[in-house]
Amino acid sequence: MKLFSFRPLIRDMVGELLYKTGLTKPAQEGNHYFTIVTFHRVLPENQLKSYPLAEIAVTPEELTWFIKVLVTYFICGPLAENLARWQNGEVTKRPLLAITFDDGQLDNFLHAKPILEAAGIRASFFVVVNSVEFNEMLWPDRLAYALSRSFEQDIKTTYQRLNQLGIATTAATSHQLILNVVEQAKTLTSTQRSGWLSLLEDAVGGPVCPTWDGMMSWKQLQELVQSGHEIGSHSMSHPILPQCSEDQLINEVNQSRQILQARLAIPVESFCYPNGNYDARTLTALQQAGYRQAVTTQWGPNKWGTSLFTLRRCDIQSQHSRSRTGHLSVSRLTWRLSRFHPPVH
Ligand SMILES: [Zn+2]
Repeated sequence: MKLFSFRPLIRDMVGELLYKTGLTKPAQEGNHYFTIVTFHRVLPENQLKSYPLAEIAVTPEELTWFIKVLVTYFICGPLAENLARWQNGEVTKRPLLAITFDDGQLDNFLHAKPILEAAGIRASFFVVVNSVEFNEMLWPDRLAYALSRSFEQDIKTTYQRLNQLGIATTAATSHQLILNVVEQAKTLTSTQRSGWLSLLEDAVGGPVCPTWDGMMSWKQLQELVQSGHEIGSHSMSHPILPQCSEDQLINEVNQSRQILQARLAIPVESFCYPNGNYDARTLTALQQAGYRQAVTTQWGPNKWGTSLFTLRRCDIQSQHSRSRTGHLSVSRLTWRLSRFHPPVH
């Protein structure tokens, strides 16, 4: 039986027991492991209600709690800096940890930056160059917003549209269906995905996005740099890299690095695989482009000696750190960040 299928009470008990015995206290491992945490969006409660992919968002209050706990147990910092310290075998009071934010959404600047700075820590932000340049939402958000609007307008017609596109519509709720469609879209080629997106956006009267949503600008990224945060590349257009032609791959990897370096006057050393997808060809392209490390979406802390181009991370979602009473729980979070947690897919 798998641990993650246990009921909440059992999960709470296991988390508490591991914590009390000291097994999941981060200090136990010292710097034998290097932990990288991932956040995406940071949205206030009222915005979260109208965001269709709410699972990948935390509220500013939740982020404050996570940062407070992480700072208590780890020395937190940007990826390139703390990874180099770990690689150099530095002996530290608490284990080293890197904090990363994916996708470069405006909410990172508005809500995460002040919280990080109040806690006196710096982080890494992975940005998509075309999205910065054109203030263009990423395709998973556009798809989710368009579908959400379509459901608001007419449920029956939305199901017909999805059937026309050959999309399986068996899901318990419209929210679950939106999540399923975004997952299915990841298996398409970029041309097919654009086709789905155009069809759904046209059907609801064009691209949909609440007025509060958007991407960080070059000016905002410069402010992050001035505050000591790291900016890494998350490609030019957030494609599934193994699907790219040779020319596209070089463009996504090399050009994104060159543009970020030129616009922000910083070295860009870290890359984040869009959707976590990579293959041998992608790894070679990254190394040739001059990156020093890259992060995936594979779960877990990194063992000593691991490849720096396939670094694992721990994705932080508030629902996974809540106890059965609904409160954020230190023992649940530290268990989840530890090597004792069952694999998360
Ligand atoms: Zn991404």
